[in-house]
Amino acid sequence: MSVYHDEIEIEDFDFDEETETYYYPCPCGDRFQITKEELTSGEDAATCPSCSLIVRVIYNVEDFAEYEEESVTVSQEKPLATN
Ligand SMILES: [Zn+2]
Repeated sequence: MSVYHDEIEIEDFDFDEETETYYYPCPCGDRFQITKEELTSGEDAATCPSCSLIVRVIYNVEDFAEYEEESVTVSQEKPLATN
C-alpha cells in the first residue's frame, strides 16, 4: 500500500511539452513528476526522484484516455443556406 504525502489536482501541475511530463514542487526542493503516458494508463502516483514522497494526482482518466483514440470529432457546421 502506498501512503500518499498529498493529493494534488492535475491543474496544479506544470506540464512540460518536450518531455510530456507533469511536475509539481516537492517539499524537499525537487519536483514530483508523472508522465502523460502514465496518466493515460491509469497511473495516479507522482513520485519525487530525490526523496520517497509520493503524491496522488487528482485527474479525470477519461480526459487522457481520449488521446489514445484519435476520434477527432470534427464539429460539422451546418452548411449555410445560400440564397
Ligand atoms: Zn522530494
